[in-house]
Formats: sequence, structure tokens, C-alpha cells
Amino acid sequence: RVLVAGSANADFVVHAAHIPAPGETVLGGDLAIVPGGKGANQAVAAARAGGASTAMLVALGDDAAAGILEASLTGAGVALHIVRSARATGAALITVSDAAENAITVAPGANADLAPGHLPTLSGVDWLMLQLETPIETVTAYARAARRAGVKVMLNVAPAQAVPAELLAAVDVLVANEEELAVLVGQAGSLADRLAKLDVPTAIVTLGARGCCALVDGRIVLQPAFRVTATDTTAAGDTFCGTLAAALARGDALAAALAAASAAAALATTRPGAQSSIPARAEVKAFMAV
Ligand code: ADP
Repeated sequence: RVLVAGSANADFVVHAAHIPAPGETVLGGDLAIVPGGKGANQAVAAARAGGASTAMLVALGDDAAAGILEASLTGAGVALHIVRSARATGAALITVSDAAENAITVAPGANADLAPGHLPTLSGVDWLMLQLETPIETVTAYARAARRAGVKVMLNVAPAQAVPAELLAAVDVLVANEEELAVLVGQAGSLADRLAKLDVPTAIVTLGARGCCALVDGRIVLQPAFRVTATDTTAAGDTFCGTLAAALARGDALAAALAAASAAAALATTRPGAQSSIPARAEVKAFMAV
């Protein structure tokens, strides 16, 4: 079983020719309000990846956005542990450019209320999946509790920020993109040296259309990206992380799990939105077979 503890946001998405520079206003297309947030996206990805049941601990407000998120998560088959907050449900303001880049501002709202005491029982949980859109002290407390309980911890260090040593010490698998890795270990040295600096059993850096690279007990594993025409890379990293957690929870070896995660993430870049863009396992299998 996979337990995701983390953020959920209502995504307010507008497509525009380019992402506005500071002080600039651009006219975009129609507004879409869709379920997102790194934690919720990863939970949906894990549930759709199949083979492991998925639950999520999430803090939501008492508002319409909460309803959108609950419907999306339960619709994907995620069992929910909801902390009801007096704040508004988290929101993300997202601009997607014609070049399929995005720029995102997050208003954490209820996500900021997720506290160490909210962690449900870890009995029956194989993997705890964490990100950094909820308070870092909470993330650290959850990781340490999981480590004590013998539950494996996957940490997606997103959005980019420095991570306390006590959190890193409780992580089994760390996933970062290039920017996040640079914040943690700088830009100097080879990729392998920089991943080694993290000092976790498995460190993975995702490299967009160039695929991903893992350092596992001193050994490098490379997984090229699947070739697609990307139109919206929102949630590519989340799809990768959630699919990876589900694959490891169902007992896949790391190389097979990286391949499944990369295929699911590639498919997600060909579809608009966050949770709506995450493919089901059958689609990923068919895509990998061609
Ligand atoms: P993030 O979305 O967190 O910045 P990346 O851009 O590194 O993360 O993407 C995560 C993973 O998604 C990559 O390792 C790759 O497997 C897949 N991916 C992302 N962009 C593309 C693309 N243009 N074509 C194919 N796969 C992609």
C-alpha cells in the first residue's frame, strides 16, 4: 500500500503565447479550474498505476475547491484521510506557454495546516510518498515516523528548497528535477557526484525530455525518455513520482519502475492539465509495447 501525505490545490490554468515577464500582462485563453497539487497528483498517479492500493492524507478547506479535489481523488480510487482546515483549499495560478513551459504561483491555504499529529496509522503501508508543498517540519516528522515503523520513504524535493539533514536521513528514494538538485547540491561536478552528495540509498534526477538518471548504492541507472510531442508538461514530475511509488510498492525492480514512471510521465505531457493528464496502467502498458 502507498500512503501519500501532502498537498492538494485547485489549479487555475490559462494558456498564453508566452509566460509573462515581471511587470508584463499577457492575454491568454479560457480559464480552467482543475484538480492539482503535487501530493494529490502523485496520489492519482499511484492509484492509476495500479498494483498497489493508494491512500492520501490531505488538508482541505470547506469550499468548492475541496469538492473538486475529493471527487478527483476518490474517482481515481484514492482512499482519503482528510484534515478539514478553516483556511481556503490550496490554489495554484498556472500559466502554460505555447512552448509547453509553465510558471506557477501557489497559495498553500489549508496545506499549511497539515501537522505532525495528523499522520494516520502506518500499519499496512509499504511506501510513504512525500513532497515539499506542506510544512517542512511536518514532512520531516512523517518521514521519521515512517523510518521508525519500517515503512519506506520516497521524497520528491519539490518545489525546490533546502532540506534538513534529519529529513534526508529518513529517505529511501529521493526524486529531484534539475533545478531542485541544483538547490540541494549545487551545479559543480558530474551528475553521479552530485547525486552521491545527497547520501540517500536511491537518488533520482529527472531531466525532462532527456529522461532520468538514478544513483543506487553507488551504481548509475539511466532511463531515456519516451519520445512524444509534449504539449503540457504540468504534472510530468508528479506522474513520474506516483507511478514510481506504485511500481516499487507492487515489487517491481528499480529499472522496471523507472521505465513505467517515464512512460506514464511522457504520456502525461501529451495531455492538458494535472490530474486529468495522468494515464491509467493499461494505457501505459500499451504505450510501452509499441
Ligand atoms: P518536472 O516536471 O518535475 O520538472 P521533468 O521535466 O524532469 O520533471 O520531467 C519528469 C519526467 O517526465 C522525465 O524524467 C521524463 O521521463 C518525463 N518527461 C518530461 N518531459 C518530457 C518530454 N518532453 N518527453 C518525454 N518525456 C518527458
